[in-house]
Amino acid sequence: MYDLDGLSASELFAPGVGITYDDFIVLPGYIDFANTDVELDTKITRNITIKRPLVSSPMDTVTEWKMAVYMALLGGLGIIHYNNTIEEQVSHVEKVKTFENGFIKRPTCLRPDNIVRDVFEIRDKKGFSGVPITETGKNGSKLLGLVTNRDIDFEKNLERPLHEIMTTNLITAKEGITLKEANKILKSSKVGKLPVVNDKGELVYLLSRTDLLKNKEYPYASKSGSKHLLCGAAVSTKDEDKERVAALVEAGVDIILIDSAQGYSSFQINMIKFIKENFPGIEVIAGNVVTKEQSQALIEAGADSLRVGMGPGSICITQNMMAVGRPQASAVYNCALKAREYGVPVIADGGISGVGHLAKALSAGASCCMVGFLVAGTSETPGEYFYENGVRVKRYRGMASVEAMKAGGGKRYMDEDSEKITVPQGVSGTVVDRGSLVDYMPYLMKGLAQSFQDMGYRNIDLLQEAIFSGKLRYEHRTNAAIVEGSVHNLHSYQTPKFGIR
Ligand code: GDP
Ligand code: 5GP
Repeated sequence: MYDLDGLSASELFAPGVGITYDDFIVLPGYIDFANTDVELDTKITRNITIKRPLVSSPMDTVTEWKMAVYMALLGGLGIIHYNNTIEEQVSHVEKVKTFENGFIKRPTCLRPDNIVRDVFEIRDKKGFSGVPITETGKNGSKLLGLVTNRDIDFEKNLERPLHEIMTTNLITAKEGITLKEANKILKSSKVGKLPVVNDKGELVYLLSRTDLLKNKEYPYASKSGSKHLLCGAAVSTKDEDKERVAALVEAGVDIILIDSAQGYSSFQINMIKFIKENFPGIEVIAGNVVTKEQSQALIEAGADSLRVGMGPGSICITQNMMAVGRPQASAVYNCALKAREYGVPVIADGGISGVGHLAKALSAGASCCMVGFLVAGTSETPGEYFYENGVRVKRYRGMASVEAMKAGGGKRYMDEDSEKITVPQGVSGTVVDRGSLVDYMPYLMKGLAQSFQDMGYRNIDLLQEAIFSGKLRYEHRTNAAIVEGSVHNLHSYQTPKFGIR
């Protein structure tokens, strides 16, 4: 055993002075593995594990269906915002839940007397055109044929009935077949769709070859047991949102996040209890919290995960405007220390501007990182790119910015009369184009794996054990140390594609 240097976590985060990510550095550990051996699997809630510790924030310029789909495909998770109607939010969740399937349990069907136009309508609305034709046009009735892209590609007569063009010579599987066996048939027969029928020839499920390909392309995808992508959605603490919760659950959501900037309230506790009592299968992320007391209260009310942060967000002005909050690293450590007693993970939310901050959030005890800014300029976010002073940018705004509050975001800030007076706790601005998450996420995760290698830990469980046992060592950083650790003294230099953090 060699001498230990630096400070333990409990010494670094000693009461009295709050610190944040740039205030400390992690001392290196012993390396006896390759960075490709690092596994980043982590708990996002008590009962759900994902392969990448990244969650996109429920903000209206960050997470709608497209971001949630790609976050999940790439191993993370997206939480759909609620600055919209219940119907709009539900439709985002449905798009995520039907994007990738094992057995498609309620395939969209048509009748033989439906026409080509009906298939085009389905394609435009739902994104697929492989439609089983059944006697009644519903699942559960006798399968008569299948219409796919290839049957309608060159069809000019939109009024033509489907029985004239549908394929009737079908390869099908019998009800009771396992997913593995069905996938084998899909692979060997080379068909695009495999209908599963019962003894009476009635359609029960459908399988799609695209799903096998998606599987191959995205090996880390976050999926439920039924092989659908995992999806979260946010609601407010208000009673009126109980209806929203029920609609989201009906749409198949896996995780509900109760979105409140200061989560230690009777409203939040009531909402947690409502969800756990009425929908026990749904995992609840509660928050936001920054202290042990807040954490304990929400966990004891039933929370399966805590969202930690008050004021560190890039678009956020809460700490200055409200005089309340906590420097983020101290918040994460203290909440994680308490939550650990209950086996509940914490999500470090806000203030993360690059790979180094992801690593620091995890080395302060978080199981997962929630990001807005980090993914805000990617092509998967809502909104269009435009040019600002010659730079290609996208809009990114705080949910408590004046603009977002007017669109409904005030609920997060218990803002009852935003019509009359608005005290914003966030700003609206722009961020630079970051390209696609499909390229950016693997870069972030490779960087994180290299950081884990430098710290000497090959997974998040081992890192957490080291944090809370005092084995992981840290030091405070002075301003001079921060300057030394950044690029300095050069006349000029080239910034790498994804920045220098
Ligand atoms: P298609 O050939 O135009 O039907 O489309 P693809 O097979 O390329 O993609 C269909 C995608 O939509 C797959 O990932 C399916 O799992 C998914 N999907 C979800 N619900 C349905 C449904 O009811 N019917 C079909 N055909 N696909 C569905
Ligand atoms: P970022 O990743 O941009 O640093 O921070 C994103 C986080 O900031 C969000 O997940 C959310 O917790 C918080 N946030 C979003 N909008 C606002 C806002 O207008 N004001 C405040 N105080 N926080 C915000």
